[in-house]
Amino acid sequence: MDDNQNFLSRSLQSVWHPCTQMKSHENFPLIPIARGDGVWLYDTDNKQYLDGVSSWWVNLFGHNNPRIKDAIKLQLDRLEHVMLAGFTHAPVVELSEKLAKLTGLGHAFYASDGASAVEIALKMSFHYWRNTNNPQKTKFISLQNSYHGETLGALGVTDVAIFKDSYAPLLTQSAQMPSPDFRLAEAGEGAEAFALRCASALEAYVSEHSHVLAAFIIEPIVQCAAGMGMYHPVYLRRAREICTKFNVHLIADEIAVGFGRTGTMFACEQADILNAPLSAHSSLSAHSSLSPSPSPASGRGELNPLARLRERAGERGGSCRVSDIADFVCLSKGITGGYLPLSVVLTKDEIYQAFYNDSTAKGFLHSHSYTGNPLACSAALATLRIFETDNIIAKNREIAMQITAKMQVLTDLPIIHLRHQGMIHAFDVQTQNTNFSRTCYVEALKQGLLIRPIGNTVYFMPPYTISEVEIDFMVDATLNTIKKII
Ligand SMILES: *Cc1c(COP(=O)(O)O)cnc(C)c1O
Repeated sequence: MDDNQNFLSRSLQSVWHPCTQMKSHENFPLIPIARGDGVWLYDTDNKQYLDGVSSWWVNLFGHNNPRIKDAIKLQLDRLEHVMLAGFTHAPVVELSEKLAKLTGLGHAFYASDGASAVEIALKMSFHYWRNTNNPQKTKFISLQNSYHGETLGALGVTDVAIFKDSYAPLLTQSAQMPSPDFRLAEAGEGAEAFALRCASALEAYVSEHSHVLAAFIIEPIVQCAAGMGMYHPVYLRRAREICTKFNVHLIADEIAVGFGRTGTMFACEQADILNAPLSAHSSLSAHSSLSPSPSPASGRGELNPLARLRERAGERGGSCRVSDIADFVCLSKGITGGYLPLSVVLTKDEIYQAFYNDSTAKGFLHSHSYTGNPLACSAALATLRIFETDNIIAKNREIAMQITAKMQVLTDLPIIHLRHQGMIHAFDVQTQNTNFSRTCYVEALKQGLLIRPIGNTVYFMPPYTISEVEIDFMVDATLNTIKKII
């Protein structure tokens, strides 16, 4: 125990933690993690915690996953790293081809973190317009409550005051469009009608400013950092139509939602799903449900507005491709199964060709030291192989239904907006506790559960390997936690 205390104070002396007011650790101890296995993390006293947030949305197939581990080990014996300027290697080529096949976007530019991928997409869009004689198209728009990362360019298109306001003088200004997050709808307004109303506002803005607009960046289907704000997929289709009509790029930030999180391989694939003919035996809830609040006070009208979505089998699960919606897609987080930092921006031929020139300055001269790291690429390839061989998209549908069913035990609590989208489940807690998220986090840890509410939103985003027993544990621990603190 003394050793542990000593270790924790050494840690606090030397390590500056992310997204943390370090002074808060005067009251809340750090948790020293010694190892992980499956959905579980074990601290140095061997107390175990169920990782209900997939270690900040990165882990897909559990900690200590033998297949991803073996792939990295195999690559480690061949080549750990080589610079990607002027050189290439098998893992990066194979991964780029696979991602091109999955998304329809054939040119892959790599970095190490999500925010770097956002920077790359913004710069590429801007530079494309410059290279094609539209130098006046320099501005970006994003959604209200959007989150795209913490570097200066990414923060410029982020709309979270607590992250952004301190740095305001450093940031490029961008305009925010009304968010189609269903929680913001008028009482009685359906998710689809609300999404269409938001799309009309988008069209009004874009039609007026298109001459200076480079790109619209958007988190498809779920605005995770906004508190799992979910919206109707018709918004994506309309956004694509509007961007095409007014000659503005659409950047899909699938850093959080990519790789199966929303029930399809990529969230964009759900965009035109309502166009698809309904099969006679369609299930009542395919990927998602935006249920009306269980609290009668909220007065939401429409029942399960997304329940008509058609269930689709297949490798990706969706009814269209990312390339039908996006000019650029940013991927990271789950791409390596949570093993190594890797991000990528994928784009299409037309954009790539605008940089292909005898002039060096017209090329995309951006770089990071670890671009296309072979170990990270091999972890990503192993992750994609698991999706293929284990039919993960279909399997996740079963798991998501188990979580949805189990969550019925929560409905006696004062909660609203109980919702889910694929492997993301969330609800908002009505409480007088002004420090709800922190209190909930700390109390849940005592019960052996890692969840990190965002404001009053509690959500589950566990690894896809979670078992039914573990689901029961996760939801029961949440129930007990909330009962204690509200
Ligand atoms: C996490 C996240 C980012 C930033 O990724 P980092 O790897 O943390 O830099 C960007 N966009 C979205 C939607 C994210 O969830």
